[in-house]
Amino acid sequence: MRYLLVMALMLMILSTPFAQTEQTKVDYLSNNGFGNSVIGHAGEYYDGITYIAYQGPLEDAYVAAYDHKANSWVGPYKAGISTMGKTAGKKIDNHGKPTLVVDSQGYIHLVFGGHGGTPDLGKNRLGNYHDGKQMHVVSKRPKDITEWEVVDNITPFGTYSQFLKMDNGNIYLFYRHGAHRSNWVYQISKDDCQTFSPPVSIVLTKEIEGTETYPVQYDSWYLNFNRGNDNDIVVAFNYHLCKGPKHDGERHNAYYMKFDTDSQEWLNVKGEKLKLPITKEYADEMALVRNSGERWTHNGMAAVDKKGRPQITSYEGAHDGLKHGGPKDLMHYYWNGEDWLGGNVGLPTGAKGYLQASKKQEINLLVHTKVGKTTEVAKWKSASRAEKFKKAAVLLPNKSGRILLSKMIRNAHPNARFLAAEKIKGSNYTKMYLIGAQGPIERLQIEADIAKK
Ligand code: ZN
Repeated sequence: MRYLLVMALMLMILSTPFAQTEQTKVDYLSNNGFGNSVIGHAGEYYDGITYIAYQGPLEDAYVAAYDHKANSWVGPYKAGISTMGKTAGKKIDNHGKPTLVVDSQGYIHLVFGGHGGTPDLGKNRLGNYHDGKQMHVVSKRPKDITEWEVVDNITPFGTYSQFLKMDNGNIYLFYRHGAHRSNWVYQISKDDCQTFSPPVSIVLTKEIEGTETYPVQYDSWYLNFNRGNDNDIVVAFNYHLCKGPKHDGERHNAYYMKFDTDSQEWLNVKGEKLKLPITKEYADEMALVRNSGERWTHNGMAAVDKKGRPQITSYEGAHDGLKHGGPKDLMHYYWNGEDWLGGNVGLPTGAKGYLQASKKQEINLLVHTKVGKTTEVAKWKSASRAEKFKKAAVLLPNKSGRILLSKMIRNAHPNARFLAAEKIKGSNYTKMYLIGAQGPIERLQIEADIAKK
């Protein structure tokens, strides 16, 4: 009798859906990433915890945290409200994705929500307008992501906002000061983002002579900032010919420069000092890595090896008469002391991601690629200066949706090095992954599935 009772009880437990569902783990931390939900510098490891930020529902800024010791997740919490993304049916803007930094006291700061701003916000002296409002928010308490407040100490005219932090605690905020026809600038904070120095223009936007088809033409730019060695920042950039009235995605070339933040000097690859702001003519003369000719490029990133030898990636393809150009191949260039060498590394077309250079000849590319009908994130390795790449490890295998990657998380824990967003089919939402040496960090499905269906 007692045996039967136990059997019945066991059957009941086994057949109760809750008993299984509550323990079911998934490889993502949330499913409420929204649109192209992640940008470059979107995470930091600080005192045992990895903090990450991404664009969530209504294009607002969300933050989550993973405690490595307790093996537990907190959040995501809504940390900031964007002025964009609130009009039903409007195309997702995707430009105001949050960048994150933790200051020396453990307060977490985000800058987000900008796509050039609008004329009602005032006069943009360094560029033009489009939409949104660049905003700064800070956590109310150190190491606590549950409550946030707005800090009114940056210009609203920002796009592609990026925080970089130096070993001396100085925090650099980089952004494009407006929409396409705007200078790219930086500001420095030496007091944990309480104040920022006035914006300094790095590259200049400039009206140039038009043609019959395109009477309005501007020099315009895309810049990508990364930490180099010591307190250096390395920059990969490309050129955008911004045309009107029929605007398209025409972008060319690849350029490299370095910002030595100790001496506050900008240098080209030969160590020659650069005068800011940089014009197209000056960039061609002083900082050109690759002249792509008629072919169009997407901007990649710069990295240096332990001895400071620079390399960059770029993405290049034929124009093919398409508004944003044809499919692009991953290109890799390295400086041999006299010239830039390299080219197409032979990865599948469309591969995109992160460049790491540790030793003289060794290059690691952390990229997402298509594999048949699926997508994956994998590390590709070359021991001989990009002559031959081998897939060294698959970190996120066999996914069904399009993938986007963040940059490396600042001061990263080995188990949480970067963020990936995977588009959920038939929806504007993405699954968010925090990935490290062991692959993605798991979470209980009941905690991760938070997006409204
Ligand atoms: Zn443009």
